[in-house]
Amino acid sequence: MQGMTFSSSPGAQADTAETRRYNRIHRRLTFIDLGLSFGVLLLLLMTGWTGTLRDWAWHGASAHYALALFFYIGLLAAISKVVSLTPDIYSFRLEHRFHLSNQGWASWAWDEAKGWLLGLLLGAIAGEIVFATIRAWPDFWWLIAWVVFIALMVFFAQIAPVVLFPLFYKFKPLENEELKARLVSLGERAGARVHGVYEWKLSEKSKKANAALTGLGNTRRIILADTLLQNYSADEIEAILAHELGHHAHKHMLKGIAIQVAVTFVGFWAANQVLRYAIYSRHMFEHLSDFADLPLLVLVSSMISLLLAPALNAWSRHNERQADLYSWQSTPSIEPFITSMTKLADQNLAEREPSRLVEILFHSHPPITKRIRAAQEFAQSKPTMQA
Ligand SMILES: [Zn+2]
Repeated sequence: MQGMTFSSSPGAQADTAETRRYNRIHRRLTFIDLGLSFGVLLLLLMTGWTGTLRDWAWHGASAHYALALFFYIGLLAAISKVVSLTPDIYSFRLEHRFHLSNQGWASWAWDEAKGWLLGLLLGAIAGEIVFATIRAWPDFWWLIAWVVFIALMVFFAQIAPVVLFPLFYKFKPLENEELKARLVSLGERAGARVHGVYEWKLSEKSKKANAALTGLGNTRRIILADTLLQNYSADEIEAILAHELGHHAHKHMLKGIAIQVAVTFVGFWAANQVLRYAIYSRHMFEHLSDFADLPLLVLVSSMISLLLAPALNAWSRHNERQADLYSWQSTPSIEPFITSMTKLADQNLAEREPSRLVEILFHSHPPITKRIRAAQEFAQSKPTMQA
């Protein structure tokens, strides 16, 4: 989702102690969650328990390969969920503790269940594809799996706004005529067309505000949280819409997919190398198609994603700067942009000035202080603009 997710920060005033504490705990939970997922995978591999799970799955499925693999993935998904349940519950409570959530326990548990089932479904599709290609083309399976994964990635990016997001949130076409008219004129000036603007019923679950450009092709749309529509002026929403339109005009979604194509290639190549090393040099498994090696495959691809995260975040921050510039150029004043940033930082408890290290490691958006400063510099370089 290319958005204005304000996990990053804002303006003139310094961060409150509350904001700093919320973000510190949030980051700590991210680390704990990550450590636990890596720990489980390592434990399964080092103790050989992954082989025990494979044997259970194999017996349960009466030695039917695809079914046994599905059972094995189900076991893996169940173990991961049990292990991550404590940090997940803590995250839920954290949002309440800082008055950022409107969601009750039952609704949260239902979302968790849906998320788990969706994860199982996607994981099973991915796993079945990987091992089907390994069995059919053991020498160059990773190239074929890579091509299939790219096709799936494009497919899921396209159906996400119409099939996946509605599993968790309600959406309806924007009814505000004034905003719609402003968007049309913004789009006309830019020569960019978006298929629609949708109101995103975020308020049922959260007090935070957000906006994003989602989908591909005919599902391409801007989504605006109702928490934003209720509390922001038409000028502020226009500045945010213009930012999202900037992502569209700069084709960030397409470029993002191109980058994923490259990252996935490296991931599959590395996974193949590591699996072969584990089998032929370390004799950890009998052959590639022994799906007890799946935790190793997941471990390698997760490690690559983790190592690349700072570079991908830097690229994302570059895109956000481009979208911001686009917003200032297509609206009459930068003032609504600045006030909307400040409001978002307050509402979402986003850090205005994180440390440089935190920015590099975690933030897909530039800190809000930097975004506001850049807007002011832009306005000063254009004497005709009201700052
Ligand atoms: Zn953005």
